[in-house]
Amino acid sequence: TGLSEHERAMVERRQRLLGPAYRLFYEHPVHLVRGEGAWLFDAEGNRYLDCYNNVASMGHAHPRVVEAIARQAALLNTHTRYLHETVLDYAEALLATFPASLGHAMFTCTGSEANDLALRIARAHTGGEGIVVTSLAYHGVTSSLAELSPSLGEGVPLGRHVATVSPPDAYRGGAEMPARFAADVAAAFAGLARHGIRPCALLVDTMFTSDGVFPDPAGFLAGAVEAARAAGALFIADEVQPGFGRTGAMWGFQRHGVEPDIVTMGKPMGNGHPLAGLVIRPALLERFGGQVRYFNTFGGNPVSAAAGLAVLGVLREEGLAENAAAVGAYLLDGLGALASRCAIIGDVRGAGLSIGVELVRDRGTKEPATAETGRLVNALRERRVLISASGPGANILKIRPPLCLTREQADLFLDTVDEVLGSW
Ligand code: PMP
Repeated sequence: TGLSEHERAMVERRQRLLGPAYRLFYEHPVHLVRGEGAWLFDAEGNRYLDCYNNVASMGHAHPRVVEAIARQAALLNTHTRYLHETVLDYAEALLATFPASLGHAMFTCTGSEANDLALRIARAHTGGEGIVVTSLAYHGVTSSLAELSPSLGEGVPLGRHVATVSPPDAYRGGAEMPARFAADVAAAFAGLARHGIRPCALLVDTMFTSDGVFPDPAGFLAGAVEAARAAGALFIADEVQPGFGRTGAMWGFQRHGVEPDIVTMGKPMGNGHPLAGLVIRPALLERFGGQVRYFNTFGGNPVSAAAGLAVLGVLREEGLAENAAAVGAYLLDGLGALASRCAIIGDVRGAGLSIGVELVRDRGTKEPATAETGRLVNALRERRVLISASGPGANILKIRPPLCLTREQADLFLDTVDEVLGSW
């Protein structure tokens, strides 16, 4: 599959050293050595357009973030059991991006740990266990999160305290979707209660990324949040994917006019440096804080806090959320124009630079074009444009470039998709 001798040896070495649980992207794996903005470079110096990596949202190897990390690492790295200004400056700057009701910040190293901590706190506060998630959700890698991440497949069983609801799919669900989604959430908590499982939380990615990217209609989440609260559950917004400007706003939940009880975040928070965490309404933390001494060796360390501060500075000063809104709208327009010429494109949807493109065999039946989507993803990789796909039929392109994507780079993406689809 186009692998050089050296690459073939690396694949073999990976399997020998890392074992069978890891997976590579693409039929023809990519060996990257350097990044800059939305560009990535392989070991031979070939340039790729990154339309998928949702961690380096400020752009790969952003010099200001790199400098902040290096400066603090050269000075001191400890943890949160000593006084240090930087974690306080960071908490202040981060909390300032949220509604005033979210008054405390806690730090971890991964999004999984942030969700795990959110669940511990929510359980302590509600006294309940029942969690409702969407049917292709992904919330993390630990045992407590794998059991509520149905996108991991049948090999990873859901917990008994977990109920799923169908994703808020307006393409298939039509105008009734918001009401149906809210009713499904209410029914899921009622179903758990019938088995003696008391409500704890509704946990959703506010862009429903792994379900297939479902942003519309803006505001639809409000009814589901209301249903969860009526059942006695908290609303936890998982902003690991939509957060930090990706949707064109700072946070994905803003699109829905809702105020979460807890917000979890990660991925772009340190632009590649492992930094994650949560913000929460202070009253919800009281019981947990009274019972638990929370210490996370690396979470909130001075180097991570410096990285986080630099990210917030870059986001603001470079206007990256605004750029995501503008270039995202431009990409959506371009994809819409492509859809008018290519029958395989059934739906185009997105907010900012979080975009889903659903490929179907037939616009009437909406039969997923699963194999074709795999072919397109691999053909784009051969033309050095990197994306991937998700959804129950693996037929929904997920487009999530760094937020600094330019119009010229958006054109390159559109032209390359056009070229591949036009050649079929
Ligand atoms: N929540 C969501 C929505 C995610 O997409 C991910 C990672 N893909 C996580 C949580 C887990 O984050 P991490 O891999 O940093 O543990």
